[in-house]
Amino acid sequence: MTDRHPRPCPALVALVYLALLAAPAPAADRSTPPPVIPRAAWGAQPAKTALMQQHMPREIVIHHTGEKRRPQLTLQEKLRKLQKFSQNPGQVGRTPKPPWGDLPYHFYVDADGRIGEGRSLAFAGDSNTRYDTANRIQIAVEGHFDQEQPTPAQLAALDRLVAWLAVRYRVPAAKISGHSDHVAGTDCPGRGLKAHLPALRAHVAGRRP
Ligand SMILES: [Zn+2]
Repeated sequence: MTDRHPRPCPALVALVYLALLAAPAPAADRSTPPPVIPRAAWGAQPAKTALMQQHMPREIVIHHTGEKRRPQLTLQEKLRKLQKFSQNPGQVGRTPKPPWGDLPYHFYVDADGRIGEGRSLAFAGDSNTRYDTANRIQIAVEGHFDQEQPTPAQLAALDRLVAWLAVRYRVPAAKISGHSDHVAGTDCPGRGLKAHLPALRAHVAGRRP
């Protein structure tokens, strides 16, 4: 009796290895989450859940941050600043803003297309505009897309993130929208990103735009 496995032929191993290397990269698997920088890695403060409403994600809403990209800051710095702003009383334009429990967005796509984890998906987002954030996953893309264009890295990250979320939460392509689809008074997510939404919906639906 032996517990030794037969040794595969080294030439065969090399051939299989080469074939794997030469094979085209598989299309991103929509059941696999994209890389997301977790809250612990950017130094998030605890969420103030008493200020937040639980919900069940069923739709996806896309935003821009409304300020031009700042590639000189790290994603960690941006998320910490945004959380500090969010959890304190403040002002958005001329409108006073109450303290929110956490970042208003569930995900943040930065200037380089990195994705940061925002508010827990178990809770509805917050907004300084009047619309119902319940049951809607909020995604912000860094930039002011009336004044600049989203980068290819940002769009690729957004597409991958939204495709994964759509599978995970069974969001149909028709339920992927921009902020201004819900609020007449905002230009969010800006012309440059709004123009991408039909292609994003087509990507999620698995068809050509
Ligand atoms: Zn918005």
